[in-house]
Amino acid sequence: MKVLLQFPEGLKQYALKYAKELEARGDEVFVSASPTFGACDLAIDEAKKLGAEKIVHFGHNEFHHVDFNVEYVPYQIDADINTLKSIFEEIKQYKKIGLVTTVQHMHQLPELKRMLEEQGKEVILGKPYGFAKLQGQILGCDIGSAATINKQVDCFLYFGGGLFHPLGAVYSTTKPFIALDPFQNKWLWLDSYRMMQEKQKRGKIMRSIYAKKFGILVTKKNGQYNLNLAKVLKSQLEKNGNDAAILIGDTFDFDSLNNMLEFDAFVNTACPRLATDDVDRLRKPLLSANEAMELMQIRSVSA
Ligand code: SF4
Repeated sequence: MKVLLQFPEGLKQYALKYAKELEARGDEVFVSASPTFGACDLAIDEAKKLGAEKIVHFGHNEFHHVDFNVEYVPYQIDADINTLKSIFEEIKQYKKIGLVTTVQHMHQLPELKRMLEEQGKEVILGKPYGFAKLQGQILGCDIGSAATINKQVDCFLYFGGGLFHPLGAVYSTTKPFIALDPFQNKWLWLDSYRMMQEKQKRGKIMRSIYAKKFGILVTKKNGQYNLNLAKVLKSQLEKNGNDAAILIGDTFDFDSLNNMLEFDAFVNTACPRLATDDVDRLRKPLLSANEAMELMQIRSVSA
C-alpha cells in the first residue's frame, strides 16, 4: 500500500524510524515535510498527488471526519507523574481540581487523579466537547473540557509540556490555573495571562480603529477552512464602508502577508490561535472574527 506519514513538529525527528518500519511490512512510504500542528491539518492534497491510499497521522486523534483514509496514532508519552508532588503545597487550599491534559497523557489521567485523591482532593474531568474527543482532553482551540467545569472547580491543573494548550483554556476560564510541565519539572500559575490577553485584544482593536482596508485570512487546511465566515465578514466590513478581500493560503507566511502593504488590518478565520499567538509577526493588526465585529460595533457607536 502507498502510505503518507505525517508528523507534528515535535515528532518529525522519528520520521525515518517509522518509515523504515512500514517499508519492512511491504508498504511504499512517503513522509510529509510540510509543517503541521494538528489533525485539523491533514496532508490530503499531498497524499492525493502521490496516489497514496492512506495517511498515517501521528501525534493527534481525530479532529473531524474527512473523506480520506486516515489512521491516527495519538502517540502516548509517559511523563514522570511524580512531578505532581511538587505542586501539592501550591494547591493545598483548593479542594475541587479540574484536571486537563493533551491526548499524549490521557492514559496517565487515572493515576494523576488517584494521587490527587490521596491528598483529599476531588478531581473533576470535563466532558469531551467539540473537536476534543476524550474526557479531560484539551486542544489549543478546544477547551470545552475546562470551560464546561469552570463553575464546579476551585482551580484548574494542566499536566503536560509547554504552554500552548493550557493558555487556550486559561483564556476561557475564570478560576486559578496552574500548569505543571513534567518534562521540565516546573509549574506556573497562568492567571496573569488572562489580563495580558485582554490588553492585547484592546490594543489590536484600537490600532484598527481607522483601518479601511481589510485582508481576511482563509486557510485551505481541512479543519480550519471557514470560507462562509470569511464571506460574512467581508460583507459586513463592506456594508460598514470598508474595502475587504479574502486571502487564501495554507500555512500563512507572515513575510508574504507583510508584503501586502495595502491592507490596514487582517482578520483571521483559520486556527484561532493565530490571532493571539502570532500577532507580533505581522506589522498590521491581526483581529479574530469576534474582534472585527466588535471593532465595527465600536465605530458605529462613536460615529
Ligand atoms: S489550535 Fe489550531 S492547530 Fe491546534 S488543533 Fe486547533 S485549529 Fe488546529
